[in-house]
Formats: sequence, C-alpha cells, structure tokens
Amino acid sequence: MNKVFLNKIETYDIEKLKDIYSRIFSEIDLKSKIKEGMTVVIKPNLVIKSKPESGIITHPNVVAAVGILIKEMGAKVLIAESSGGLFTPATCKMVFSGSGYTEIAEKYGFTLYTEAEFSKVTINKPYICGELNVINPYINPDFVIDIAKLKSHSMTGLSGAVKNLFGVVPGLQKPELHCRFPKEEDFVKMLTDVCEFVKPNLSVMDAIDGLEGDGPTGGIKKHMGFTAVSESPYALDYVCAKIIGMEPENIKMMAFSTEMGLTPKSLDEIELNDDINKYLIKDFLMPKSKTTDFIDRIPKFLRPLAAKIATPKPYIKKDKCVGCGKCAESCPQHTIEIINKKAEINYKNCIKCFCCHEMCPIHVIDIKRLKIFNL
Ligand code: SF4
Ligand code: SF4
Repeated sequence: MNKVFLNKIETYDIEKLKDIYSRIFSEIDLKSKIKEGMTVVIKPNLVIKSKPESGIITHPNVVAAVGILIKEMGAKVLIAESSGGLFTPATCKMVFSGSGYTEIAEKYGFTLYTEAEFSKVTINKPYICGELNVINPYINPDFVIDIAKLKSHSMTGLSGAVKNLFGVVPGLQKPELHCRFPKEEDFVKMLTDVCEFVKPNLSVMDAIDGLEGDGPTGGIKKHMGFTAVSESPYALDYVCAKIIGMEPENIKMMAFSTEMGLTPKSLDEIELNDDINKYLIKDFLMPKSKTTDFIDRIPKFLRPLAAKIATPKPYIKKDKCVGCGKCAESCPQHTIEIINKKAEINYKNCIKCFCCHEMCPIHVIDIKRLKIFNL
C-alpha cells in the first residue's frame, strides 16, 4: 500500500516545517535508512532563477527543514539541480544564489552542486529512452530526496514529483529530448524512464504556494497551504492532482504510469494520514493548453479538425520582449529568431513543447488558442 502524508501549513517557517517532517520521518523510520556519513542528494525544482516567494521554485526553507533533519541523522546534504538554459558552474552558482539556496547552504552546512558535470547512462528495459545524459550526483547516489513544487504545467498538465526529476538532465539537453520525443505520448514515457532511473527514496511536495494557470514559470501564484510526503513519487503526484482538481487519467504522464502499474489506480490504493477533503482546492486554474472544455461542446465529427485548428501556440508579446534570446536558446526546433531585438517564432517548425514559454525570464510568452465557433 502506498502511503502519503498530508499536512496543513500556512507559512514557510523553518521550525514549523521541521516539526512536520520530523514526525513523518519518525513514522517511516527514515533514520534506519540513512547511515552515518552517507550523502543524501536533494533535488529541488529550480527550473529558472527565481525568488523564493515567487511560487515557481521549491522554497529554500522546505529544503532547509528537510536538510537539517537529514544532517541530524549524520548524513551530508548535497543539493543538485540543472535548471533550463546553459548548464555551467557559473549558471549553477547564479541560479542557486538568485533563488535563496546559497544562503541556506552557508547557514546550515549543505553543499551545492556547481561542478556542472554529467555522464551518459543506459536505462535497462526503458519504456522509450534507453540512453541519456544525467548530472553526476544522480549516478549511483546513496539516497535521493525529490523535493518538488506543486504547479500546473503547459505541456504535461502537472508539475510534481515525477516531472521534477527531468531536472537531472543537463541544461540545454532537455530541449534536445523534446526534439527526440516530440509527441506528448512519447515525451511522458521518457519522463517515466527518468523517474525510474533516479528512483527517489523519498519525495516531498512543497504545496504551500505554487502556480496555477500557465505554469511552470508563467502561471499565477496560488496559495494552497499544505505539504505532502511519500516514498512513492507516483502516489504523491496522484494525491496532489486530486487535491487541485486534476483527474489523473486526463494527465498523459499519470495515465501512462498507471498503465505501467507505477501510479495507483484510485485513492483506495493509497493510505492517507488525514482526510483529503480537508485539502481540496476547488478553484485551481488549469493551463490554457490543456483545457478541452470547448472541444467537448462541439459536434463529435468536427472535433479532430477543431482540435487541430485550435491547438494552443506560444505567442510573444512583442511590445514587452527585451530580446534576451533565452527562448531561442531553449527552443529544440531552433525556430525562434531575434530580429531587431524582438523574438519571432516561425510556427512551421514549432512542436508546441512550450520550452520557450517556460524559459522566458520576464514571462512575456503567452499561450493562445484560436477561438472557433464562438466557443
Ligand atoms: S525570452 Fe522572453 S524576453 Fe527574452 S527574447 Fe524571448 S520572448 Fe523576448
Ligand atoms: S517555438 Fe516554443 S513551443 Fe515552438 S518548438 Fe520552439 S520552444 Fe517549443
């Protein structure tokens, strides 16, 4: 039986977070699994350099609370992440310091991974991706804790514990994987391969503040007021999806992992420490790219054509674009050009992966769908 621990918490107070995680860690007897001298690698979500209070990244205080408890068990803490964009020692340092991680590392004695080295790995019996590069701390680690941020995601629907592990792929090699697996059904298989490769020993969700709407970077900050922990990243995502009103069977990534027997089929297969009804968020905004409501309202025979015409596209707000080129750098199809200090998309080659939307530092790439039939 998968177990998921839910706990309400309204602020990022480190002492309160420590109290919650300390109780959970005792219940799962984490101390018996963490040996003296071991290195515990923590994988936060630092998709982009962002302020801790933005709702975009795993708040550093959540990582601090978990890390302090791990250190008390006698282990070392190594925080390792590859954000989008370039993956170099300088960009790693810049993301850590701009996101509040350098401060917690210095204060509590954690190590930040800034060497920016990676190696090729082979995945045994992959669903689709047998070989890829992974940043070195995730190759034969002693113990991994995946600390995700609960957000909507324009491409995959949900950004949670499973999607967070895509950050073990170095920098600009992430868009390359979009190119290798342009169809969403293949991309989600690759994400499942990555999750099965890392196999986090423990997963934690920062769902105190997150993002709704067009996440994972351009959405709207949403206060949700809880944190959750599980030894299964799949069960953790399942419960969090239910809380924010997403149906797991409608999220391709979860539908696939359910079919593969990794994600539970229903809440009946998950043991919860608390009543989930106390956590439900009724007004969570779904990403524009994933809403299918209007398609459901037109005659069935017209739906394939309507879906094709109305497939959401990235749209650059030219008046606000500063021409920094981050979108072009992250585009797997190399279909964005900077002309006269403004980004321009050649839609002919666009595969609607929304990497550009994710990587724009000032969030001026919108997602738009053509409205048809006045719906
Ligand atoms: S990342 Fe954003 S601001 Fe920078 S060039 Fe692209 S659209 Fe413009
Ligand atoms: S333009 Fe944007 S959505 Fe289209 S392929 Fe490039 S990164 Fe992906």
